[in-house]
Amino acid sequence: MGVKENLKLVLEEIESAKHRRTVTDEEVILVAVTKNHGVDLMREAIDAGVKDIGENRVQEAAEKFKVLERDGVTKHLIGHLQTNKAKQAVKLFDVIHSVDSEHLAEEINNAASSVGKVQDILIQVNLANEDTKFGVSETNLRGLIEKVETLENLRLKGLMLIAPNYTDVENCRPLFRSMRKIFDDLKKSRQNFDMLSMGMTHDYKIAVEEGANIVRVGTAIFGERVYK
Ligand SMILES: *Cc1c(COP(=O)(O)O)cnc(C)c1O
Repeated sequence: MGVKENLKLVLEEIESAKHRRTVTDEEVILVAVTKNHGVDLMREAIDAGVKDIGENRVQEAAEKFKVLERDGVTKHLIGHLQTNKAKQAVKLFDVIHSVDSEHLAEEINNAASSVGKVQDILIQVNLANEDTKFGVSETNLRGLIEKVETLENLRLKGLMLIAPNYTDVENCRPLFRSMRKIFDDLKKSRQNFDMLSMGMTHDYKIAVEEGANIVRVGTAIFGERVYK
């Protein structure tokens, strides 16, 4: 099946998952993850109606965005960001999902300041405390938020989670649920805090059921990535 058909199926799945959840007043943004695919597929997705594109590497994104020739798409950096790429990231991306340390927050803030921009960011949380994952621990989350909120060229928009790759995807559900609780709690006393990014191809339906309002889906739209 082609991108257009896959996209339609994913959007239908999101819609039906929305009906199974308790938070009903929110739209769900589908970020189409084009990493490791060519710019032709990126264009195809945008022409089929995609408004949000996700890339996980700055260099790869820079090359593709340069030749994209499409306006009106929101660009999301979903992968880990090295501090020495902060300046380039700020120029390329509308939302950076992967802020997980004070040092990185400061570097992005400086970069944003130098180009006269207020950068939308999410804080990535490593809720399952996996050694292999980036993200701030739940324990250090509040401290990082306090720091971020002192930085004038950052706008904290919400939180991001990458769930463990469990064989039984139902095991993700409690994590998504806790994340939504933490999100709701923080949201109470904050403006502009309205993005909860969680769910990928194998778990986005459950993520939406548990209150994600941004999902990042690659494989279900574009097929398996081939790494050379
Ligand atoms: C690659 C990636 C995705 C998309 O993964 P799929 O399984 O292809 O849907 C989502 N989020 C992040 C952070 C990624 O790196």
